[in-house]
Amino acid sequence: PRCDVRHHAAHTEAPVTIQPPPRESGSVSCVVPCHNEARNLEQLLPQLRDTLQACSHPWEVILVDDGSSDATSLVLAKWAQTPGFRALLLSRNFGKEAALTAGLEAARGDAIVMMDADLQHSPSFIPTFLEHWRQGRDVVYALREDRQDESLFKRLGTRVFYKLVNMAGRFEVPAGAGDFRLMDRAVVNALLSLPERNRFMKGLYAWVGFDALAVPYVPDGRLHGKTTFNPWSLIRLSVDGLTGFTTWPLRAVSFMGFVLACFALLYGAYLTAVYLLYGHVISGWTTIAVGLMGFSGIQLLSLGVVGEYVGRIFEEVKARPVYIVKRALGQGLRKAD
Ligand code: UDP
Ligand code: MG
Repeated sequence: PRCDVRHHAAHTEAPVTIQPPPRESGSVSCVVPCHNEARNLEQLLPQLRDTLQACSHPWEVILVDDGSSDATSLVLAKWAQTPGFRALLLSRNFGKEAALTAGLEAARGDAIVMMDADLQHSPSFIPTFLEHWRQGRDVVYALREDRQDESLFKRLGTRVFYKLVNMAGRFEVPAGAGDFRLMDRAVVNALLSLPERNRFMKGLYAWVGFDALAVPYVPDGRLHGKTTFNPWSLIRLSVDGLTGFTTWPLRAVSFMGFVLACFALLYGAYLTAVYLLYGHVISGWTTIAVGLMGFSGIQLLSLGVVGEYVGRIFEEVKARPVYIVKRALGQGLRKAD
């Protein structure tokens, strides 16, 4: 359903020069990160199996249990006995980006599809994705149309975030392009070659480039359970994205310092002139108090901006693995009918 195809503005110019060679065959891996999704998986996995089985490519599904506290790991262990299904159980909750990375590293297909486990990403899109991939696209992604039922805070925040991330960039992170996508093996290899631990996937997709095609969709609501992304974790994710893909906040701090220094110089000259012309001036308590508080605020803010980057450097320098696999179950690709 709803599978009309449209080029996304960020990517429309690129592919007109060379017609990419079509891909005849090749295998497909489907990566699904799962965090407390037992009930959703019971519904999703049969659908996924039937869809992939009808797609005439050898296929595998890689289910990543991201430290769930419900029966997810049991469901995964059961499904890992079905041919075509594999399960990776992470040693604890590492977050969705890490779970996706684990799945991508385990995937062996020539095309890799990533999707959420909560049925917000319908398996019915996979044949469309594959069709574009066969025609030569490197990336096909589902472009999220606006949802009216999302809070004003979330929609406004999203807009501000993409404005900030895309300021003065060489590549654009398209708003609404999420993790529901197909990527060619070459793209996945490029993604996996990026060494950072702090994996803000939406930025990484944009950074690696390649010819991308957008398929618009309106996501359904979550089937069971509720989202793990509350406003606070969304803000944290945004800060990760900003520090990972921009340096302009650092320059903005320098610029602010420069402007304030100029202002201080002029105001100082004015005060000196007043003193020399009119003699002893005592009043000015308000100026001092306001100035002191204002400037302390700006200094702490600037320190915070620099601190975010230092914190990120710290994370990267430690060079810890992005995730730890506790157990890997299941094997092998399965031939389609
Ligand atoms: N997820 C995960 N680890 C987490 C949080 C979420 O693997 O720490 C998975 C979750 O199981 C789902 C997908 O990421 O398959 C998207 O999560 P969610 O539906 O909570 O996010 P939203 O759809 O609201 O962006
Ligand atoms: Mg969801």
